[in-house]
Amino acid sequence: MDNNSQGTSPDAARLTAQLAADDPTTRHPKVSPPEQDQPEPGLDVKTEPVPDIGLESYVGLGRLRGRKALVTGGDSGIGAAVAIAFAREGADVAIAYLPAEEEDARRVVTAIEEAGRTAVALPGDLMDRDYRAGVVDAAAAELGGLDILVNNAGKQVINETLEELSDEQIDETFQINIKSMFTLSRAALRHMGPGSTIVNTTSVQAYEPNPMILDYAATKAAINNFTKGLAQQVASRGIRVNAVAPGPVWTVLQVSEGQPKGKLPVFGHNTPLGRAGQPVEMAPAYVFLASGESSYISGDTLNANGGTPTP
Ligand code: NAD
Ligand code: MG
Repeated sequence: MDNNSQGTSPDAARLTAQLAADDPTTRHPKVSPPEQDQPEPGLDVKTEPVPDIGLESYVGLGRLRGRKALVTGGDSGIGAAVAIAFAREGADVAIAYLPAEEEDARRVVTAIEEAGRTAVALPGDLMDRDYRAGVVDAAAAELGGLDILVNNAGKQVINETLEELSDEQIDETFQINIKSMFTLSRAALRHMGPGSTIVNTTSVQAYEPNPMILDYAATKAAINNFTKGLAQQVASRGIRVNAVAPGPVWTVLQVSEGQPKGKLPVFGHNTPLGRAGQPVEMAPAYVFLASGESSYISGDTLNANGGTPTP
């Protein structure tokens, strides 16, 4: 082989172009969102710029063929990207979300169906005890079983000081972010056998709490701990439990009181990669942990945070 011609061959040129396209600092645009506001829970479709949930970009490889998954908070942001990726990997997918998010949910249902898979929509409020108690069984009934649960619904609302943080907000944040994981995981385990997986959404906030989201950050630390504990409990049954810890990801969560308005234009710019992540960039981590490819990984947290060091 002539080394001199290697650098100019079509294959080498393609590889160079592919590597340039994969540069993580530029693979997705660096967003500088304008200051904006939406009441909780907010809609992706009204967020500027609209978060990239992979509608145009995620390509599946059949890694979850025939699986049946429930994704909470599957209407928007990270959960929507996960639901779409799962469907394109061959899974039937149920999504849980608040009734006010129907417009976002419709986009995801359509994308799942366009992937040729079954979509199940389960609107309801995780603050409602009856909904919490029934949502997993409803998903399993409509999908004809359940072997993947993604606990992803979350609430994040800033408060400058502890004195401004109400008991009501503390209760809601803990109920939605972590207490529901106990209820939904317990219900899911009744349907799950060997090879099934649970993936929980935690956050970089578990290790580096932003002082304006004390309640939120505390739930995320608890989610890591819950993940490690439950993983040990169910390992001998052939069921794995893991978590994904996103860093700053551009979603409507940040717009609906998740960040001070003035911070939105520079959201995520302080990460080593210099930009916020997009929801679609989180999806492969969930696909990996949900599939048999990660068969020797349980109780772990996969950090997808733009390069921020973690413990
Ligand atoms: P998102 O607003 O798109 O998703 C959150 C979802 O939680 C909502 O769509 C909603 O369906 C659900 N939810 C909230 N309250 C609920 C309730 N009372 N009942 C039922 N469902 C409810 O925002 P996202 O950023 O994609 O958030 C998804 C997960 O990712 C959350 O757990 C969040 O904490 C976590 N996370 C986000 C970031 C980020 O920067 N965006 C970083 C780390 C972790
Ligand atoms: Mg939503």
